[in-house]
Amino acid sequence: MNKNDALVVFSGGQDSTTCLFWAKKHFRKVYAVSFIYGQKHVKEVELARAIAEKAGVELKVMDVSFIGSLGRNSLTDPSMAMDREQPDGGFPNTFVPGRNLFFLSIAAVCARELGVNHIVTGVSQTDFSGYPDCRDAFIKSLNVTLNLAMDEQFVLHTPLMWIDKAETWALADELGVLDLIRRDTLTCYNGVQGDGCGHCPACKLRREGLERYLAMKAEKGNWL
Ligand code: ZN
Repeated sequence: MNKNDALVVFSGGQDSTTCLFWAKKHFRKVYAVSFIYGQKHVKEVELARAIAEKAGVELKVMDVSFIGSLGRNSLTDPSMAMDREQPDGGFPNTFVPGRNLFFLSIAAVCARELGVNHIVTGVSQTDFSGYPDCRDAFIKSLNVTLNLAMDEQFVLHTPLMWIDKAETWALADELGVLDLIRRDTLTCYNGVQGDGCGHCPACKLRREGLERYLAMKAEKGNWL
């Protein structure tokens, strides 16, 4: 096992792109893995490829489309309208059951093949959208399970777990990739690159975070 290398679960969105550059700062060699899981916007994967190339990171794209068809959700089912808000006491229909469980389990097998024990994922509990597999307890539990499953010493890293979207933009800026992330990534549920469609929940969260960060930065600038 090479303890200086890392594998990033990479979707080409704001969060995982920030994690990709975070990993480049902290590890010697960085690999990335992207998943085709039946998402409506396969453009995500093209953008992920382009960003990985710019970052000089080797990317493996895996087709795991069966995940999207196991449970009904609006990210993979074109006939379903997307929930704009989180319904009371339930998950938004953008929840893909088991997605992070599958992704991280497959990533761990890939990491093992590569001889890498650090795995990085962009999940966050702070801007918790009702997804249970973005929570810290799930990640910690899965880390133990993966180690037991393969008798390895994987370390799951979640640099965004306790920071909000404004702080994620701050981290991107600190890593020198704010403009790249703003322009080249896709977070929008309607498949619009960069600043997105502007009204889906993912765009709203991303824009509000950016506005808050830029306002904070401007205010700080006034004090210098
Ligand atoms: Zn959008």
